[in-house]
Amino acid sequence: MEYKKLVELYQSIEATTKRLEKTYLLSEFLKSIPIEDITKITLLIQGKVFPVFDDRKLGVASRLVIKSLNKSMGISADRIEDEWKHTGDLGITAENLSKKKKQVTLFSQILSVSKVHSNLVKLASMIGSGTVSQKVGLISELLTSASPLEARYIVRTVLEDLRVGVGESVLRDAIVWAFFDDSIHVNYDSEKKNINPENRELYNAYVEAVQDAYNVVNDFAQVATIARLSGLKGLKSVHMEVGRPLKVMLYQKVQDIEEAFDRVGRPAAFEYKYDGFRVQIHKKSDGIFVFTRRLEEVTRQFPDVVDSIKKHVKGSSFVIDAECVGYDPKTKKYLPFQNVSQRIRRKYDIERMARDFPVEVNVFDVLSYEGESLIKSPFSERRKVIESMVSSVPFSIVPAKQLITDNVVEAKKFYEESLKAGEEGVMAKKLDGIYKPGSRVGYGVKVKPVMESLDLAIIGAEWGEGKRSGWLTSFGLACFDPESGNFLSIGKVGTGVKEKVELGVSFEQLTELLRPSIIGEKGRAVTIKPSVVVEVNFEEIQKSPTYSSGYALRFPRVGRIRDDRRPDECSDIELVKQLFSNQRGR
Ligand code: AMP
Repeated sequence: MEYKKLVELYQSIEATTKRLEKTYLLSEFLKSIPIEDITKITLLIQGKVFPVFDDRKLGVASRLVIKSLNKSMGISADRIEDEWKHTGDLGITAENLSKKKKQVTLFSQILSVSKVHSNLVKLASMIGSGTVSQKVGLISELLTSASPLEARYIVRTVLEDLRVGVGESVLRDAIVWAFFDDSIHVNYDSEKKNINPENRELYNAYVEAVQDAYNVVNDFAQVATIARLSGLKGLKSVHMEVGRPLKVMLYQKVQDIEEAFDRVGRPAAFEYKYDGFRVQIHKKSDGIFVFTRRLEEVTRQFPDVVDSIKKHVKGSSFVIDAECVGYDPKTKKYLPFQNVSQRIRRKYDIERMARDFPVEVNVFDVLSYEGESLIKSPFSERRKVIESMVSSVPFSIVPAKQLITDNVVEAKKFYEESLKAGEEGVMAKKLDGIYKPGSRVGYGVKVKPVMESLDLAIIGAEWGEGKRSGWLTSFGLACFDPESGNFLSIGKVGTGVKEKVELGVSFEQLTELLRPSIIGEKGRAVTIKPSVVVEVNFEEIQKSPTYSSGYALRFPRVGRIRDDRRPDECSDIELVKQLFSNQRGR
């Protein structure tokens, strides 16, 4: 297929914010894809070159794109940067410059989807500093043949920032509309922007089948191919494959233990909610594989986890779900998440990191054992399997601490005990609940203390890009030190700020409030004289060498603007210290 066709689709989808219209456009397009291109195109539609679990990365930074634009268009890097500053989007920059380019390309060829995809795949295979010119060569080869609009999307795809707004649910529904329309007759009314499938029940069943298959294989390209070639039967026969990660089950939050019982029934299994990072571990004949909750493979970074599995877990083939918690090897005290989080992206010094920041694997679920899928088995049975396969070896691997009870008082005691031990709270699990990959279905819920909040002054920000260009984003926060009269930085926040004014504190509103107080600019970063105070909710305070206060906030979120507070009336460092030391028995 010509790349031009895909680009037309991107453009039309980007032009609408209506979900159903996006779905319609996409479904019509999916119908038209030749079967040999369906995998590549389904990936490219999502701005991807590889499925999530494939750990190849394009590894292209803006600088490399600028070099490629320079090479393909003969325009100076300075001019490209100026234009970029103006548009805030390197894709649009490429498009604009390409319209203006004087150089006539002699060997221009018509770009095909296959050509674009294959150059991108090659990019991922070039690792190391000596590959810059080859990478520039591959990108500029595409840009040389590209029309202005094609240039826009090539650049965005290369930067892994497509931004046309195709979410998972849109793609899922589009697959249903495209490949099952013969039996459900989706009547899409483009005027009223609504749909009316002839058979709503069947329609919902198809949607569920596509979603279920996706949750297991994690790749819409494969799901689309199966839907097209073997329909519902094909989707239903999709099975978990050991070695290939599936979406993890998620848990809803409830207020307290009573509500937990209401949701999961009595008796229920209560477990410590460990404060670490989640891993899905697969073992099969050719090895052990560790994936993060976002399904990236991190086996290499965790030789100690692999070792614990080898030594203390019985079985030749299985998939388990677990939380890795770091501990201090000398004092054997458990450590908060941030101390081990640095191991996740580590590329070198891995053995030393494993020695200095070891983890304990807390196994809380099993999805497959010795070739048998357990995702449809009740949780109580899965737990029995965990207990029979995992030998409990503290500071290496243990089954999650569990209490089965129907008694509120006992459950509350367990919750307190977990908080005192420095954990985040408890999980309550339905004894007969199945494992539903990817969803918050209520087979398990979490109970943890409510969020804290601080009032903090804004001391910096960054000019936004793309949809957010012209607005300040990513706000630097500070608390006050009454002793020195200085503001001390404590992190950055973007979450909670809205794109639309009607929805609450918006980027536009903050930008207007902060603009007069901008006192310095360097690239996109701006320094701001403290003048605006915002209420910031967060889950936890952590020690941090990065910020001058010595602390950082975990999961900060802007609540409201505290226009009733002067900057020097914002929360002071003493309060931050106090909240930190009050945190859950640490
Ligand atoms: P949250 O991250 O707040 O949505 O809480 C859910 C997360 O808690 C899971 O994704 C796990 O990473 C983690 N977790 C810790 N202990 C457990 C446990 N016993 N069972 C399930 N999840 C747990």
